[in-house]
Amino acid sequence: MSRIEHYTAEFVESFPTPMQPGILYVSTSYSTAGHICPCGCGCEVVTKLSPVRWKVTFDGEVSLWPSVAATGLPCNSHYFITRGGIDWHRKLDVGEMVEVRAADQRAVEAQRTPAPPAPSRWWTRLWRWSDRSGR
Ligand SMILES: [Zn+2]
Repeated sequence: MSRIEHYTAEFVESFPTPMQPGILYVSTSYSTAGHICPCGCGCEVVTKLSPVRWKVTFDGEVSLWPSVAATGLPCNSHYFITRGGIDWHRKLDVGEMVEVRAADQRAVEAQRTPAPPAPSRWWTRLWRWSDRSGR
């Protein structure tokens, strides 16, 4: 398989098996995007779409942001998909890969942790009012 130079978006319910090279599949049902690694290794790359992970934008051409560091793949590719094109970046070294994974994990954990409940002024006021009226 040769390098992929360009991606087009395809909005799907779930990803086909196998995925076709040059297509960035976007599953709105599962909030994931999937594509074949552009380096030519043929591996499938699945990215979770969320405020702390990846986002897909489509303005006639598809973009995936931030960069994909395929740390789980043998090719270790690192690239952006910007308006359909591949923007290659230098491969990460082992230390950076560990850091990328840790940062990703922290971001996910931060999103999961529920914010402490904010005291509701409305509720406090109502409670005080009913307390007073009860006397
Ligand atoms: Zn690859």
